[in-house]
Amino acid sequence: MQTFETLLADEQATVDLGLKLAKACKRQTTIYLHGDLGAGKTTFSRGFIRALGHQGNVKSPTYTLVEPYELPPWQVYHFDLYRLADPEELEFMGIRDYFSSDAICLVEWPDKGEGLLPEPDLEIEMRYAGEQRKVAVTAINEYGLELIKRLELC
Ligand code: ADP
Ligand code: MG
Repeated sequence: MQTFETLLADEQATVDLGLKLAKACKRQTTIYLHGDLGAGKTTFSRGFIRALGHQGNVKSPTYTLVEPYELPPWQVYHFDLYRLADPEELEFMGIRDYFSSDAICLVEWPDKGEGLLPEPDLEIEMRYAGEQRKVAVTAINEYGLELIKRLELC
């Protein structure tokens, strides 16, 4: 397991991290996003989703649980499980269908869906550091390690 840590000085730095990771993805990818409210999980996701070609808003899927984006060659699913009351709701949503071979899944509050989500390739932990943020990106498997290595080259 390897972790890449850096300081995100401002909102743009958080957007840029999302952009860089999006550009590094080469296959089906699952990224868990941890951190308190306001830590920057949705900001990161906005940079990520825009980098793959989405031009509109990236709204927080707090109420819908998931927001899909069709961005060929990828299907991007942005989850926010903060309001998930019962993991069984994910079963009703047909959660398994979201994790197809062309899927990139970004999951905010993954702990709420424990046991029903696929294993991540990367786990991202965002923390407040005064007005700024600290981020730790941890590789969970070999592919995650590749992603981190590409990040280190940026
Ligand atoms: P979350 O999804 O984790 O609840 P959001 O991304 O919705 O958080 O909100 C993060 C807030 O913090 C936004 O107001 C954004 O402008 C700000 N922000 C994001 N990244 C940084 C950063 N690196 N430094 C300072 N403020 C940031
Ligand atoms: Mg959010």
